[in-house]
Amino acid sequence: MSIAVKNTSALKVIVIGGGPSGMMAAISAAKAGAEVLLLERNHRCGEKLLITGGGRCNITNNETDDRKLLLKYKDAKEFLFSAFAQFNVRDTIDFFAALGLEFKEEAGGRMFPATESARSVLEALLHAMEAEHIKIRNDARVTELLTDGHTVTGAVLEDGTTISGDRFIIATGGTSRPETGSSGDGFIWLKSLGHTIHAPNPSLVPVRTLERWTHALLGFAHPEAKVSLLRDGKVATKRTGRILFTHFGLSGPLILNMSKEIWMMQKEDPIIIEIDLFPKLDEGALDREFQSKLAPSQNRMLKNALSEILEPRLAEAVIGKLKLDPAMKVHQLKKEDRKRVVNLLKHIRLTPTGLLGADKAIVTSGGLPLKEVDTRSMRSDRYANLYVTGDVLDIDRPSGGYSLQLCWTTGHVAGTAAAT
Ligand SMILES: Cc1cc2nc3c(=O)[nH]c(=O)nc-3n(C[C@H](O)[C@H](O)[C@H](O)COP(=O)(O)OP(=O)(O)OC[C@H]3O[C@@H](n4cnc5c(N)ncnc54)[C@H](O)[C@@H]3O)c2cc1C
Repeated sequence: MSIAVKNTSALKVIVIGGGPSGMMAAISAAKAGAEVLLLERNHRCGEKLLITGGGRCNITNNETDDRKLLLKYKDAKEFLFSAFAQFNVRDTIDFFAALGLEFKEEAGGRMFPATESARSVLEALLHAMEAEHIKIRNDARVTELLTDGHTVTGAVLEDGTTISGDRFIIATGGTSRPETGSSGDGFIWLKSLGHTIHAPNPSLVPVRTLERWTHALLGFAHPEAKVSLLRDGKVATKRTGRILFTHFGLSGPLILNMSKEIWMMQKEDPIIIEIDLFPKLDEGALDREFQSKLAPSQNRMLKNALSEILEPRLAEAVIGKLKLDPAMKVHQLKKEDRKRVVNLLKHIRLTPTGLLGADKAIVTSGGLPLKEVDTRSMRSDRYANLYVTGDVLDIDRPSGGYSLQLCWTTGHVAGTAAAT
């Protein structure tokens, strides 16, 4: 007969924050033999996880070549190499598949759970934590870390209780969407412990624009637009991708990915965002295409004929912007007005008036610089028993599942290292 004996020599790992990176850290630490306590300030874990990908959770990106994937993390790629050698996209997929999740892939390698529900991802993590006997304390906001020399000795809760442990993992997230619990507490502690914290700036955020005529296009998504940022009328940068018009301005993956650049440039000089809705055709070719498409509709109203060539909301907005008579017959449209339509579709110029701010930010750039972290273990270079994960780290990345992949990778690495 075998008797289960509790491993009394197990290290006690305290994970602060029950977001995706904290939950992954807790699971990995427990699997590596630690006794784990997770402290979460909310009533439950994973509030932000539930709103990821519009509630569908873009769980990772299906780029299984680590070298190519790491290019997405720009300056951080060298630092992250060892972490991804320990836990990469393939490991993420295997990890969740073992918990019963199936996946579907969408444009640009974006991976979603087949359920299309972020809740199923959270449930999988909660089950895994239960299976690993992880203790979770909800409604437990940590207010302070206690130290003795270069060792963290305890985490103080709001009610004054001190939680002691052998290892501590800060997984408190950044400052985006503070109503989900991430209000930057980890940054405050790390700073008071002598670490540098790069000021958080909203990143991957929608952009407000001045011109009202495009606000009427709300909900209109265009899969392949060329967006140029003009400074002094000259193109400073340009990229092509999917954009979304909204009631306040612009959003969609391309705009989110350019938002930090827009914000940085705009701090220095006024800039203009120029959108080309037909980047594959020059003005002459687009005009010829318009002529041939309008040819059979000579006696129809401009509004109706144009609505068959362009998305109806776009047709209406263009007619309004150029002050054309929507009821005029197509044969009454002057050549120069047709060319103005073409010109507008190739050069929609909008003035950015700001970003939507941390309340709408998907990630917050800024945080703890990786050079102050041993990225083979995610351990602080100042405190021997302190680890950091996820959005606490200052890592620039695009949208497309790359943020959550960082959580799975850094969470796994920190959890495993903290347990051993
Ligand atoms: C609207 C939106 C959509 C997104 N969609 C995607 C997507 O589809 N794919 C993708 O890859 N990324 C997406 N992201 C980014 C992704 O959600 C984050 O990168 C990720 O949640 C970061 O995880 P984390 O564990 O580092 O921190 P968080 O998820 O922020 O979790 C931190 C946790 O710590 C807790 N906490 C904070 N302070 C304390 C304290 N003092 N004491 C105790 N607990 C504390 C918080 O309550 C919270 O539960 C999205 C973000 C947003 C805002």
